[in-house]
Amino acid sequence: MRLTECLLTENDCYKGGRTIVPKGVMVHSTGANNPNIRRYAQPTAGSKAYEETLSVLGINRNGNDWNRGGVKKCVHAFVGLLADGSVGTAQTLPWEARGWHAGTGARGSANNTHIAFEICEDGLLDRAYFAKVYREAAELTAYLCERFGLDPLADGVVICHAEGHRRGIASDHVDVEHWWPRFGKSMDDFRRDVAERMEENMTGEEIYRRLNEYLRTRPVPAWAEKELKEAVALGITDGTEPMALIPRYQAAIMARRAVEKEAGTV
Ligand SMILES: [Zn+2]
Repeated sequence: MRLTECLLTENDCYKGGRTIVPKGVMVHSTGANNPNIRRYAQPTAGSKAYEETLSVLGINRNGNDWNRGGVKKCVHAFVGLLADGSVGTAQTLPWEARGWHAGTGARGSANNTHIAFEICEDGLLDRAYFAKVYREAAELTAYLCERFGLDPLADGVVICHAEGHRRGIASDHVDVEHWWPRFGKSMDDFRRDVAERMEENMTGEEIYRRLNEYLRTRPVPAWAEKELKEAVALGITDGTEPMALIPRYQAAIMARRAVEKEAGTV
């Protein structure tokens, strides 16, 4: 993922300053043939890194970007083309801001629960562009799920606008189901791809924690129970979490304690 910050501080949504506790990520696509992020995202004059952000995103001279009052919509990020023609992401709202992206459905609005990004559509015929923005979108979603502790495979967490509408939490739009299936991808594929990416991104610390969590649920083998009790009685171990991982230093200390006890009893 190539992430550039370009907060739309002139947008009324940003100015409203409302926040959410993110419970999911909603995927949108723009519904207009313009793959350039600069169409939508431009930095605020005088903001930090203004020149640098403009050089990364490119300049929109039409004055129709979303960084102005009266736009009535705002998302947390755009995925699309950067000035150099590569695909990247511009973050346009703080992740915990309440966006204006889902409208309202029969049962409420995903604005209150979901972080949202727009994928800039092209003419919807270019497989290479699709593959690049799909990948970038998966990386962005994996990043957000990790950051906010979200499970992309859980019900209703990672959804597109059209799915949101069927769930009653978004207005009646087709994105992204009018586009992705043309290239053989569904939202189910996307959720799986996001989950896979998160597995790849797991740090050593997370692997250790998850393995321990799993092992704690396992029973001590019956054949080991008697000796474990004896070891507790001898003060070699306190017997708690008998299935947890043991690093070598702890094993060495236990062995040393055992030798000490032995020496003490002789
Ligand atoms: Zn949408």
